[in-house]
Amino acid sequence: MFIGHYAVAFALKGKEKNASLGMLFIATQFVDILFFPFVVAGLEHLKFVKGFTAVNDFNMDFYPFTHGLLGSFVWALLFYVVYRFVLAKNKAASKRIALVMALAVLSHWFTDLIVHTPDLPLINGQPKFGFGLWHSKILTYLTEAALLILGLVYYLKKTKAVSKTSRYTATVFVTFLLLINYLNLFVLPTNDAIKSLTVSALVFYFLFAGIAHFIDKKRT
Ligand SMILES: [Zn+2]
Repeated sequence: MFIGHYAVAFALKGKEKNASLGMLFIATQFVDILFFPFVVAGLEHLKFVKGFTAVNDFNMDFYPFTHGLLGSFVWALLFYVVYRFVLAKNKAASKRIALVMALAVLSHWFTDLIVHTPDLPLINGQPKFGFGLWHSKILTYLTEAALLILGLVYYLKKTKAVSKTSRYTATVFVTFLLLINYLNLFVLPTNDAIKSLTVSALVFYFLFAGIAHFIDKKRT
């Protein structure tokens, strides 16, 4: 899953107003931020199989560290500890914020579950899970869009714009994300070169987090 993960980021920001939306964007995508470099480093394995699903050619036959449920718990715990004791600026709310960040990291596995083929392990090896929505481009697109819009609506309800223009920035941003995903699924060719795929994935993840951070600063 790509932009659908950010639905959870918006929703958690709506729940915990002291959490940074930019950081939540990083947290919900954290295991993918690790996954691509891990593949390049040879720690995990991604095989490109033409037409593996309608959406991409990813046959992820070994990625327990980032996409095992246990692995996800460990990263969530690490995020909790780092966020609570190192990164948190707001000491009073640090426990709640750290918990929200950990939930964001963990949410990745469950949102991936909707679209992946059965390749998500609990620890490593069988059993593996995935509902396989990637076999349909249109269903993948609509599901991610629906999740993201729901997250946005909740976020808009729970936060307030500080100026006239900032009333619309979050909606414009989500529209931009929907457009990017449209291009990604329906227009651009699939990218089967791991190094350029890693670079473009990381550029997008951090760019989106940066924009989210900027937009969120203009809301209270
Ligand atoms: Zn993932």
